[in-house]
Amino acid sequence: MSPADAAGPADVVVALDVGGTGMKCALVRPDGSTVHTERHATDAGRGPDAVVETILDVAEGLAGKARADGLDPLALGIAVPGVVDEAAGVAVWSANVGFRDVPLRDLAAARLGLPTALGHDVRVGGLAEARLGAGRGTGHVLFVAIGTGIAAAHVVDGVAATGAHGAAGEIGHILVRPGGPRCGCGRDGCLEAVASASAIARRYAEATGGGPTGGGLGGGGLTGTPASAADVADRAAAGEPAAARVWAEAVEALADGLATGQSLYDVEAVVVGGGLAQAGPRLFDPLRAALHERMTFHRRPRLVAAALGDEAGCLGAALLALDAR
Ligand SMILES: [Zn+2]
Repeated sequence: MSPADAAGPADVVVALDVGGTGMKCALVRPDGSTVHTERHATDAGRGPDAVVETILDVAEGLAGKARADGLDPLALGIAVPGVVDEAAGVAVWSANVGFRDVPLRDLAAARLGLPTALGHDVRVGGLAEARLGAGRGTGHVLFVAIGTGIAAAHVVDGVAATGAHGAAGEIGHILVRPGGPRCGCGRDGCLEAVASASAIARRYAEATGGGPTGGGLGGGGLTGTPASAADVADRAAAGEPAAARVWAEAVEALADGLATGQSLYDVEAVVVGGGLAQAGPRLFDPLRAALHERMTFHRRPRLVAAALGDEAGCLGAALLALDAR
């Protein structure tokens, strides 16, 4: 019996997706529909203890809101970034929220008195895309989020693999360009050092003189704001050589990384989300062609844009909560 089959009319779960700057929060019905949403600041600069207190307060407030509205909160799901030990319910490590071995699941379960699940933001995002979004109806999905970094979730029959140490899916650290640009992890030539949205913006700035763009195509020049990855995509499409080169190098590197992913996982669908997916056909058309060029005996996966946008993490946290109750 699926969770939806067992649902009562007032059943909801409380879901929180905690990021470095903000928390997306919702009350979600067992069928995946959202009945209430809230956003709160994470304010990570206050330190991990204060962030944990805010998470607990917000979760408790949402459960109270549900009850006040005549709903029955069944469980709580929390998604956080970094390294997450989902089996133990521990936020092991996070650069942007500051967590170090925080037993967040047990803290939340004690505060709210509800069954609680803790998940990794990209893995639960992949879970939501695989079950409710662009991978719906597909048994084997690789979800790849491309933003500041690049991370992935391999979802099989609605379950995202966590890895032995809670660190599965670090596709951004596949070595694609030995001796290439320095990655944040300390190694040269990782995929995300070439093809993340921030790497694309940085490499374009380096290629064009390092600083603000000084009046090229698009809106960046007038304000002196450095070109974003989206600006680079626009300028590449308009034929600007430096942008075209940086964009093409990113696409080729992504194709190398995704081809490695397909060799390992043999999925039916690769679902690409995160900020870079907003580039639409400027990303997907050349990336699909470059990926297919790299397929020899492999079955070609469908390459599709994520469907749930920035709600995916919150919906995935809700799915974890439904699985946990
Ligand atoms: Zn790396």
